[in-house]
Amino acid sequence: MARILFMNGGAEGHVNPTVSVVQELVQRGNEVVYFTTENFRERLEKVGAEVRAYDFFRFFEGFMRPDNHMLGRVGGMLEGAEALVPLVLEEAKAKPFDYIVHDSMFGGGRLMAHLLQLPAINSSTSFAQTEAHFQHFVEHLNAAASSGPADQAQADFEQLTAKLRRDYGYVVRSPYEAFFNPEPMTIVYTSRLFQPRGEDFDDSYKFVGPSVSARLQAEPEMPELAGKSVIYISLGTAFNKDIDFYRNCLKAFGGSGNTIVMSVGRETEIESLGDIPDNFIVRPYVPQLEVLQHARLFITHGGMNSTNEGLSHGLPLVLVPQGADQPKVAERVAELGAGVALNKTELTVDLLRNTVNRVLETPSYREAAARVGESLHTGGGARQAADEIVKYISQVKVG
Ligand code: UDP
Repeated sequence: MARILFMNGGAEGHVNPTVSVVQELVQRGNEVVYFTTENFRERLEKVGAEVRAYDFFRFFEGFMRPDNHMLGRVGGMLEGAEALVPLVLEEAKAKPFDYIVHDSMFGGGRLMAHLLQLPAINSSTSFAQTEAHFQHFVEHLNAAASSGPADQAQADFEQLTAKLRRDYGYVVRSPYEAFFNPEPMTIVYTSRLFQPRGEDFDDSYKFVGPSVSARLQAEPEMPELAGKSVIYISLGTAFNKDIDFYRNCLKAFGGSGNTIVMSVGRETEIESLGDIPDNFIVRPYVPQLEVLQHARLFITHGGMNSTNEGLSHGLPLVLVPQGADQPKVAERVAELGAGVALNKTELTVDLLRNTVNRVLETPSYREAAARVGESLHTGGGARQAADEIVKYISQVKVG
């Protein structure tokens, strides 16, 4: 049995899908040591991992700074990785590891794999990217930035990679390598169908579909939703402070024949939204998987987890992306015909209401959502991810 080092950052969307994978690996007799932030300790220890918590926001400050140029942020990833080196080396010295599973973006796993000379597997919780996809993305951003900071960011990036080469013999050939940390095998928590340009990825990308982590507590049931025509609205757990959006929803769907469940986040004061129509249930947080079982349509920010969960339930989506990878996810859902993406800056009460009505009245949205949902189910999820990891490692050892 193996001792496995998991390296990750501190975002829910990056850690949560790995929790069930850890559980699978531990159940098969492996030891897992997991580097992440303190807030994941409880759920990871519950599935049998040892947690090594670090201060993600301090280590990855350069990546998190929104004013930083794209290349500067990519450099921030490398700085974060480097800051983790002493912690990981100390850990490995105390008891060596057999291999590494690291997040595609955070945690510096590729650098650690180089330093410890270990096989490594990439864990990609959003869409995977080839070098060509990434290049296109960076060019797009560069075109939008003025040349001054871009030149400076380029120079800083080159200086940083030269330092890593000098200090650790670690070669970063491109921003893509710094950003996506490619490895000979990548676990992708979606389906090849949902992945944009899925055909561009070779067999080293294992599309296992969503790995929905066991929730810490059993989700409470919501019997009051049974038999109702339910529309569910949520902007997730991070980008969820858009008061105007919630007010627009109250106006668009107040008094309609539907029961509207609206999760507004723990930092939104429900009183600040004004009068709540009788057909609304507004809460800081709801048992989402339970609500989705009763829903006909999901208005979402397009977070990868929410989108996977909605489509897995065969629900058509109306997406209002707020940031991060959400515009890409929304674009892909629309491309596949499983929903409609709206621009948050152009949102009006009428547009919201008309779009929801159109999606509900047009069967093709529900049919496409069911098709994508089916592709997500067939990937095998966490169990398949663990199978692929174990298979790959046994091949590497033989090789
Ligand atoms: N979630 C939930 N109840 C809520 C809001 C969110 O259970 O009221 C869960 C949801 O099921 C999903 C996660 O929180 O698993 C949100 O992840 P996502 O990637 O969609 O968005 P993020 O919060 O990372 O922006």
